[in-house]
Amino acid sequence: MTRKQRLDAIMPILADEYPDARCLLDYGGDPFRLLIATILAAQTTDESVNRVTKTLWPRFPGPAALAAADRTELERIVHPLGFFRNKSRRISEASRHVLERHGGVVPDNMEDLLEIPGTGRKTANVVLGEAFGQPAIIVDTHVKRLSGRIDLSRRTDPDGIERDLMRLVPSADRTDFSHRLGFHGRRVCKARAPACRSCPIAGYCPRRGLES
Ligand code: SF4
Repeated sequence: MTRKQRLDAIMPILADEYPDARCLLDYGGDPFRLLIATILAAQTTDESVNRVTKTLWPRFPGPAALAAADRTELERIVHPLGFFRNKSRRISEASRHVLERHGGVVPDNMEDLLEIPGTGRKTANVVLGEAFGQPAIIVDTHVKRLSGRIDLSRRTDPDGIERDLMRLVPSADRTDFSHRLGFHGRRVCKARAPACRSCPIAGYCPRRGLES
């Protein structure tokens, strides 16, 4: 079975299994809030970020307020997420950049997004796919792990995995497929204990039996 055949077989199964797959960060439809939430989500869970942004946004509602925020106060708010000094600095710098270079409006293209401090391809793809409805392959930790296990890519670098998946996944399906793979990774094909026996795509997975 080729990779393309495997992908074509598992895509409808994952679509049936996870019809609700979506970005789990709360951002109220605002691209700026999504950008900041995604930067904060490095090395932590979306649920933890949602708890923090519930405090962050009433205090600093947009790019101007966040760019001018007192760093000590920001660090206190962001503290539960870990790496709080780095994250505070990154969201301050990102806010300033969006404010000064883009008039407070998050750009809707990869090139400009990658110039925003703290923004790599994963964050940029989250913003493009979620906030702007553009086709985006989002290589988070789950998509990275599953792409290897299902053998959709043998690369280990996120950029290489993204390129491999872009070659395989039709553009209209990219964002949804990323979310569905992410959901499958969270719920079934977990890092330490993949539930191969109850996995709906086990019949197409070269690594089935990994749990035993
Ligand atoms: S069969 Fe096992 S390793 Fe393969 S996708 Fe399912 S849970 Fe993951």
